[in-house]
Amino acid sequence: MPTRRSSRVPFSSAAELLAHDAGRGLPLWQHAVAYECQRGGLTEERVHAMMVDIVRILKRSIAQGIAGTSHADRVLGHQSGRFADLLAAGRSLDGGALDTTVLYVTALMEVKSALGVIVAMPTAGACAALPGVVIAVAERLGHDDDAIARAFLAAGLVGAFIATAWTFAAEVGGCQAEGGAAAAMAAGALVTLAGGTTPRAVAAASMALQSMIGLICDPIANRVEAPCLGKNVMAAANALACATMALAGFDEVIPLDEVIETARRVAGQMPRELRCTALGGLSITPTSLAIQARLEAARAGCGKAGCGCG
Ligand code: SF4
Repeated sequence: MPTRRSSRVPFSSAAELLAHDAGRGLPLWQHAVAYECQRGGLTEERVHAMMVDIVRILKRSIAQGIAGTSHADRVLGHQSGRFADLLAAGRSLDGGALDTTVLYVTALMEVKSALGVIVAMPTAGACAALPGVVIAVAERLGHDDDAIARAFLAAGLVGAFIATAWTFAAEVGGCQAEGGAAAAMAAGALVTLAGGTTPRAVAAASMALQSMIGLICDPIANRVEAPCLGKNVMAAANALACATMALAGFDEVIPLDEVIETARRVAGQMPRELRCTALGGLSITPTSLAIQARLEAARAGCGKAGCGCG
């Protein structure tokens, strides 16, 4: 949304939001619309319409991913099609919405890796958890694009609090800043999708981020594919569980703002090797290094059998 130098927002932390909400039973998306209108000088209708556009973009990308994508400089192939085949054959482990979530998360990650159109919500590496789980659950519950747009708006407000107090950058915070933020945003969105109140959505976001504290960033072969796919799936599954727990009234114990501050503090205690530098974790396994060498040789044009230039 457009922001001007003179922009003001009605609240910039979860605590300020909850004070503003004052137990009125409003859904988080209504506060998100008020936030975006004030920040960007937009009408409510414009805010909603822009988010519906994003929903439709993401649905097209999911379909594109399942149909199949390709890109030379990539670690993983077309796996979402295989997952769709498994579901169609009735051979899944009956994960319900989680099955569809895994399919959609995988499809979006593949579109991202093929340099297709994705929405960085909140980042490219963690682009799939939030839309994957929200669209999967929405379809299962019979919700339309308008309802998904409202859930995404709620997610955006959780993300705004994280970005205001901290960061989405894995180079600063490790994967807890990318996947953790995605999980927190998705949890708030799912509570909103289910008709939950603002305090419950914020509680879900807190629980989801708590479960991601300390998650390192260690991309295999220095590409944002693996373990990123698994971490996106984990963030989505975590969000689904935390949203359901929040709807049941579970106690998040630690307020969201304190959890964000904790993630920021933990990030400061993490070595740089574990923060998106590809200098630690899975990035430096023999297999990762071999894949990286193969891909980089191919990019340089000397990876073909019989080339002999290396
Ligand atoms: S492991 Fe690193 S690159 Fe992959 S999603 Fe997490 S933060 Fe992004």
